[in-house]
Amino acid sequence: MPLSFSRSEFIRSAASPGDFLRDGLPQLAFAGRSNVGKSSVINRLVNRKNFARVGASPGKTSQINYFLLDGRAYLVDLPGYGYAKVSKAERDRWGRLMEAYFASGLITGGVMIVDARHKPTADDVTMANWFFDAGCPLVAVANKLDKLKKSEIAPNLERIRETLSLRETDELVPFSAEKGDGREQLAERVSLLAEL
Ligand code: GDP
Repeated sequence: MPLSFSRSEFIRSAASPGDFLRDGLPQLAFAGRSNVGKSSVINRLVNRKNFARVGASPGKTSQINYFLLDGRAYLVDLPGYGYAKVSKAERDRWGRLMEAYFASGLITGGVMIVDARHKPTADDVTMANWFFDAGCPLVAVANKLDKLKKSEIAPNLERIRETLSLRETDELVPFSAEKGDGREQLAERVSLLAEL
């Protein structure tokens, strides 16, 4: 049954492995470079403004935020990466938290948000590999589609698929958090991930 995204609520943040939720519900981890539009994609998915910011507070960039979707699965909002102005201490904290979460065996599905305009960065490739190594199905979202010319769409999607080494079963969803393109396709994919 498709998830009813209108029934979504913030549960809590985790800053260390002791705070990870371990209740057996599916955990769908959303990852992306800072500023790629991860919060906007999540807000569009659940059709609510400012939803993904509920658990975030300034200075707490290295925490994981858990949202419950329809009482059936967690949307796990992972802290963004690749932000140049972050201190080394903060980056190290991010790395430790991510390593612990990916090693925990708790992730059941991944959603990776990349920028439709650009070739995925080395950090994006590393993140995709973490999902592959964790053995999860992955959905990649090419966000900011509204910034592309029609003729750029197909070649850019192909470049993303190749650079991330997406497997045949990993869906790549062209998306615009701003305009709403791709929302239904992503909702369908996330619902499927929640059933695995
Ligand atoms: P996050 O850091 O990954 O959570 O990114 P945000 O959701 O805060 O978005 C970063 C910036 O990108 C904001 O200025 C958004 O308005 C903008 N943005 C996000 N998604 C889109 C999109 O689909 N199209 C366009 N044009 N801008 C977007």
